[in-house]
Amino acid sequence: MGEVLYINNAGKDGESHLTGNAICMSCQKEWQAVAPVGTSVLECPECKTMKGVFKHQLSPVTNSVWECNCGNKLFFILKKKIQCCNCGVITSSEVLNEI
Ligand SMILES: [Zn+2]
Ligand SMILES: [Zn+2]
Repeated sequence: MGEVLYINNAGKDGESHLTGNAICMSCQKEWQAVAPVGTSVLECPECKTMKGVFKHQLSPVTNSVWECNCGNKLFFILKKKIQCCNCGVITSSEVLNEI
């Protein structure tokens, strides 16, 4: 598996978590972090500051995801449609590629 941050959605409520490489913005320490979904800052195991962040973009590990024809997997959610963050195409989930 590549260098991405995985979201495990498989657990029951309260058990979903993020897993991936993290880095401290203060002392540059890198480590493998596991944190509950909703966590945006991490405590550095080295200098104990709350300056830790995940290094990579989120990617669900258990659910299939949608991909635009341009290859992008990030979208804006509009009121009734979705828009590709990369090429700007406005579409609906029916015409996207499920991967
Ligand atoms: Zn640190
Ligand atoms: Zn696109």
